[in-house]
Amino acid sequence: MKADLFEAPDYYNLDDLLSEEHKLVRSAARDWVKRDVSPIIEDYAQRAEFPTQIIGGLAEIGAFGPYIPVEYGGAGLDQISYGLIMQEIERGDSGVRSTASVQSSLVMYPIWKYGNEAQRQKYLPKLASGEWIGCFGLTEPDHGSNPGGMTTNFKDMGDHYLLNGAKMWISNSPIAQRGRRVGKK
Ligand SMILES: Cc1cc2nc3c(=O)[nH]c(=O)nc-3n(C[C@H](O)[C@H](O)[C@H](O)COP(=O)(O)OP(=O)(O)OC[C@H]3O[C@@H](n4cnc5c(N)ncnc54)[C@H](O)[C@@H]3O)c2cc1C
Repeated sequence: MKADLFEAPDYYNLDDLLSEEHKLVRSAARDWVKRDVSPIIEDYAQRAEFPTQIIGGLAEIGAFGPYIPVEYGGAGLDQISYGLIMQEIERGDSGVRSTASVQSSLVMYPIWKYGNEAQRQKYLPKLASGEWIGCFGLTEPDHGSNPGGMTTNFKDMGDHYLLNGAKMWISNSPIAQRGRRVGKK
């Protein structure tokens, strides 16, 4: 295992633009990356495996839904904090950052913004704690940059949805849980 000796020189004094809270949030993320990600990630990458043991740590540093309100289990932070957390994780590993930013921006945000109250209460706290991992399945094998051409479809069967189609490159999909429908908006 290789020690992560990263130090962040601040040549342009950008830290002056940050609040004490921003720096604390960043420092927690940086320490966690050095301790729990950098030493193991190369080995996992070579084996094409996701280190599921780091999910709890991602939740602890507030990487799942940093700006989601505390009442829904989020960290209640601002967007700058979200960016700082992602920057630190990205330095350690881009894939781990994808896990966190997909969960935050593509899974939790739409539920918070467009979901009904029952959906928010059911999904957000468990997504924030890392108990549940979500994913966002846009890309299809024959239609990557062209969402308008996608062929995957679903039918509302009353008590469940029937999904037909194929997806690829979907971050988190190998470890994401299956959800059940909760009410209608
Ligand atoms: C690590 C990783 C994680 C990902 N996670 C997710 C995820 O969680 N969810 C998800 O839905 N997707 C995910 N993706 C998919 C990603 O969003 C797609 O790769 C992206 O949409 C591009 O699609 P494509 O790879 O099929 O490339 P294509 O669409 O086949 O494009 C190939 C090339 O042609 C260019 N091109 C395409 N169309 C045009 C055009 N009309 N004019 C000019 N140039 C064009 C593109 O810029 C590109 O250079 C992930 C991809 C990666 C690599």
